[in-house]
Amino acid sequence: MNDEIEITLEEFLKLPKGSYILIDMRSETSYEQGHIEGAVLANDDVSSGKDKRLIFYCQYGIESLQTAAYFRKCGFRAYSLKGGYMQWLKKQSDVFDVEELERYDRQITLAQIGLTGQLRLKNSAVLIIGAGGLGCPCGMYLAAAGVGRIGIIDHDEVCLSNMNRQVAHRETGLNKAQSLKNTLVGINDKIQVTAYPERFGTDNAAKLLDGYDFVIDCTDTAETKFMVNDLCVRYDKPYCYGGVIGFEGQVMTVIPHETACLRCIFEEPPTGCETCESHGIIGAAAGMIGCIQALEAIKFITSSAKLLTDKIFIFDMLTMKTRTAKFGGISSRCSICQNMH
Ligand SMILES: [Zn+2]
Repeated sequence: MNDEIEITLEEFLKLPKGSYILIDMRSETSYEQGHIEGAVLANDDVSSGKDKRLIFYCQYGIESLQTAAYFRKCGFRAYSLKGGYMQWLKKQSDVFDVEELERYDRQITLAQIGLTGQLRLKNSAVLIIGAGGLGCPCGMYLAAAGVGRIGIIDHDEVCLSNMNRQVAHRETGLNKAQSLKNTLVGINDKIQVTAYPERFGTDNAAKLLDGYDFVIDCTDTAETKFMVNDLCVRYDKPYCYGGVIGFEGQVMTVIPHETACLRCIFEEPPTGCETCESHGIIGAAAGMIGCIQALEAIKFITSSAKLLTDKIFIFDMLTMKTRTAKFGGISSRCSICQNMH
């Protein structure tokens, strides 16, 4: 090995174990979330390493170069790992290219996501039913997060009165599923997006749900929401219910046969429900709820936290009060859940 201050990953991997001390200069959180095998944190005592090579690495191999130079001045045989942790990570997982690793860097850094979580997101498929006020923000954040495959169902066309909340649409007259698809592909060209310009229902549910890991109900009427609930339970698809009207929104996640479904709680769709058309809706409120639905999907896929199961999260965005109504699991009287056993 020559005495260049930068050492390549290939050169490093050839070094005999025990001939060096590998020092991770990143934060403790980043280290805990993932580090090169055998590395110690920078604040650990390395004074015993006078007779060994000190190999420093940071995220991209930039800060570590300065540190190695400093240690050389102090008489150590110090080196900086070229390309840093990201170079090593890439070698570990060739499923991500360098651009993807940079694109998702700020979430890979999170202990709750990490490279494992990012890989799960990449290998997952989420189906969004309804490309409106909830579906637009939800889809945009799922695309940005790197969900590998996104499906969008909507039979409707974009009209001008949608535009205050359906923020992914750019022009009227286009099919909403196609229009949202165009925006998602523009946000992230590393993912696959499929538009289904049709109405979701009993006749096509099996075909449309097939191959998706998680479903997001972004529809806008009580009747449709109960139908989505019933079909997701019947076809065993975990899904997230969301609803918003005026300044108020609700979210609940259903894991079929494990947690309460919408019908366990309400039995029948309420009659005489207001709609966005009759009551009105503020776009940012739909955005909040759509984002919470995207979070539920991300958390489900990466198994990183507790979901809104057996409870309905209610957010009054006029008073900024939130509450969570808890329920006792699957109801023995639920016509949908009990039919399945
Ligand atoms: Zn039920």
